[in-house]
Amino acid sequence: MSKQRHLTVLGATGTIGVNTLDVVARHPEKFKIVALTANCQVEKLYRQCLQFEPEYAVMLNPDSAGELRHRLRQSGRGTEVLSGVEALEQVAALPQVDSVMAAIVGAAGLRPALAAAQSGKRVLLANKETLVMSGALFMDAVRRHGAELLPIDSEHNAIFQSLPRNFSSDLSENGVRRILLTASGGPFRTVPLSDLENVTPQQACAHPNWVMGKKISVDSATMMNKGLEVIEAHWLFNTAPEQIEVVIHPQSVIHSMVEYADGSVLAQLGNPDMRTPIAYALSYPERIDAGVTPLDLFKIARLDFEKPDFQRFPCLNLAYQALRRGGTAPAVLNAANEVAVAAFLEEKIPFKAIPAIIEKVLADITTRAAESLPDVLSADESARRAAQSMVEAL
Ligand code: NAD
Ligand code: MG
Repeated sequence: MSKQRHLTVLGATGTIGVNTLDVVARHPEKFKIVALTANCQVEKLYRQCLQFEPEYAVMLNPDSAGELRHRLRQSGRGTEVLSGVEALEQVAALPQVDSVMAAIVGAAGLRPALAAAQSGKRVLLANKETLVMSGALFMDAVRRHGAELLPIDSEHNAIFQSLPRNFSSDLSENGVRRILLTASGGPFRTVPLSDLENVTPQQACAHPNWVMGKKISVDSATMMNKGLEVIEAHWLFNTAPEQIEVVIHPQSVIHSMVEYADGSVLAQLGNPDMRTPIAYALSYPERIDAGVTPLDLFKIARLDFEKPDFQRFPCLNLAYQALRRGGTAPAVLNAANEVAVAAFLEEKIPFKAIPAIIEKVLADITTRAAESLPDVLSADESARRAAQSMVEAL
């Protein structure tokens, strides 16, 4: 039997975190939780601590951390409770931890994910924003510190599964021609364009196939999610933007494909359930039960494919543009998107203002080479400030 893996789960209370703990709980002999982290959901993290008895629990918010510490002491638990960004980095780098699930949402996930890579962990990367903001730096940290990077995003996990096992990060050497990145098209794939003006956050978060956090759900509705994933694929698989084609596939059964020079196309299929890629990465290269319902092809009956409509989904185009521009442009795109999505969720701006704000921020901000973390963080900060003032001006 393979050795027991010792895990930190960053973003334990989120959709990916909860799915990760579901898989872990099915295999107590294979996995041990060393640290769990969350932003401010005390009750949820408290219950997870009772169940998994980690050595550490981290809450970003100090008041939430105080409350959790108090409650765990009252229940006689020995979990040490910490708070703040440094504590997130600390539990991502603990010597007794070998695998880190990076499942914090947004730019906040960057520093802890980077800490995991810099300490040579197996990094299970769900936080795509890390690669979008700092792809060159992050991939460099992975290589230099001997970390092992396994993608959790279902598409990238599918691509990883469809590439040769010892993929050397040069597509042509491996006979790969293209990556076909599938996308569901989200909840607004077929609504009349004129109706997009008035869609609500609730409608935007009602994804047809996946249950996800609010931010990524809105990203799926604008298809910025696919744009971020194009950038993510570029860094993970060393792929030029022209070699990544987005294919709308409304059933979300094929999670992505790899096209080879001989005409073969390899795909990974499955029910849309994040426990599949999570289980794959947790126990790689071994396959374990993930609790996922087997795929019933007779029930699915058909698989459809369409070209994406860039007029309906301008965010997809903005992401390709940012990737081609390079440097800090993707970090700017990401930050403007986070601010615009948060404002839409708070009903401060209409849905269609999301791409408009991002486009304007990208046009207004001078981007430069992303050579260090401060370069990336300062681009992130100026883009946030610019986007915020546009939100307030609307
Ligand atoms: P979520 O909103 O459900 O959960 C986010 C988690 O991050 C929570 O535990 C929250 O407490 C924590 N968090 C939020 N802000 C934080 C901060 N400032 N500092 C520290 N922790 C913070 O999100 P999710 O849907 O689980 O997505 C997590 C990440 O995984 C995102 O980057 C998303 O793009 C990616 N992802 C998610 C899915 C999915 O199916 N949900 C699929 C692919 C990729
Ligand atoms: Mg995805």
